[in-house]
Amino acid sequence: MLSCVIHGAHDLRLENRDVPEPGPNEVLIHLGAGGICGSDLHYFHEGGVADFKIKEPMILGHEVAGEIVKRGADVTSLKAGDRVAVNPARYCGVCDQCRAGRGNLCKNVYFFGSASKYPHMQGGFAEFFVAAETQCVRLETEISFPEVTCAEPLAVVLHAVNQAGNLNSKRVLVTGAGPIGLLAGLVARFAGALEITITDRFASPLKLASELDMDYALNVVENPDALKQAVSERGEFDIALEASGAVPAMINCLESLGPGGRMVQIGMLSSAQLPFGRILAKELEVVGTFRFYQEYTQAVRLLEKGRINVQPLITHRMPLKSALDAFNLASDKSQSVKVSLVP
Ligand SMILES: [Zn+2]
Ligand SMILES: [Zn+2]
Repeated sequence: MLSCVIHGAHDLRLENRDVPEPGPNEVLIHLGAGGICGSDLHYFHEGGVADFKIKEPMILGHEVAGEIVKRGADVTSLKAGDRVAVNPARYCGVCDQCRAGRGNLCKNVYFFGSASKYPHMQGGFAEFFVAAETQCVRLETEISFPEVTCAEPLAVVLHAVNQAGNLNSKRVLVTGAGPIGLLAGLVARFAGALEITITDRFASPLKLASELDMDYALNVVENPDALKQAVSERGEFDIALEASGAVPAMINCLESLGPGGRMVQIGMLSSAQLPFGRILAKELEVVGTFRFYQEYTQAVRLLEKGRINVQPLITHRMPLKSALDAFNLASDKSQSVKVSLVP
């Protein structure tokens, strides 16, 4: 079967691998769609994401959905022909974090297409892949596979917005207008935000942000003072959702939050030098957010019910056999938002 395998930085290969055999509690899934994520692009360009480095060849892909073709002997809730969205995380369920309801911080978690554990857990960018029964959310509607794979980034954002606290009537800043930033804007509005300002370095995602009815879409490269002007005209922000992982954007958040404001760091990075004086002088709260737990199933259902429309974000659908072109296209933020691989 055709598989999209990362060997190291700038070394993504299409390989022919054997179709895996599902274990007793697993199902074999035929790929319906796979969304290329920012973290996949970090593996593609840098051979790792934050502290997770590639140590062995790994099939990429964690935003996946498809149709079950075979089930293991002990699987009872799913059968061949079921359409499923696949939660990429396999939680242990028994560590202290899982028991405390924080499965996203599970100490023994395995995550599709992630080098966080060795041996790495293989991902879903292949014609077929196996998933545990517990990872699968059976679809209740005819939603398309590319749309429902957005459940993964949407779950990330639902968790991040939970970390932000009550957004009702708040003035919200989102830095980064990639898929996560755009979804953060949509979810912030869903959560009752008064006004949403989104920033980016490129014109085309900002145009999309405007089409998605974000109140203000600011280009911080064309106009480096855009945020300063926004603050002096309309006041400081209550909440910042940092979705770029870029240090200048993080500094922008700390500068433009009002006293008592809260910043949620969603974008991945391993270290940054930040103006900590701002944090103490304005009593800012800076909180992290990592993946998701129960939010995955919630995200699937929100998409199925059409409460969040992700169709405008899916700018390209490309066949798995053109994965290299798809990764290059997904890397060009002036050309694409979400690139979806299809069989
Ligand atoms: Zn993702
Ligand atoms: Zn656990």
